[in-house]
Amino acid sequence: MNDQIDPAVFAELLTSLRRDALARLTARGEDIRSVQDARNDPAGADDEHDPEGATLSDEWSRLEGLRRAAAAEIDEVDDALHRLEEGTFGVCASCGRDIPVGRLLVRPTATLCVPCAERRR
Ligand SMILES: [Zn+2]
Repeated sequence: MNDQIDPAVFAELLTSLRRDALARLTARGEDIRSVQDARNDPAGADDEHDPEGATLSDEWSRLEGLRRAAAAEIDEVDDALHRLEEGTFGVCASCGRDIPVGRLLVRPTATLCVPCAERRR
C-alpha cells in the first residue's frame, strides 16, 4: 500500500467520479433512445435519400462513442475502488513503486507511475 494515500479521501473521490460517469451513461442512453425514435419515425422513413437520415446516424455513432467512454470510465473507477479495498491502490502496476499522490489526485484511476506510463506510449 502507498503510505501517502488516505483511503477515505480516494474512496470519496472515486465514488463521486463514478456517480458523474453513471449520470453521463444514463443521459447518453436516453439521447440514443431519442435518436432511435427519430429514426423510426415513419415521417422520416426515407433514410436513403433523406439528408436527415445520415445526420441521425452520425449523431447515433457519436452518442454511442460517448456512452461507451462513460461505461469504460465506470469500469476503471470500479477497478480503482477494488484496489483501494485490497490495499494495492496507488502502487504502480508495472514497477511496483508508489504513484505520487499528486498524480492520483488528478487521475485517481491511474494504474501506472508517470515514468512507466510514458514508456508505454
Ligand atoms: Zn512504474
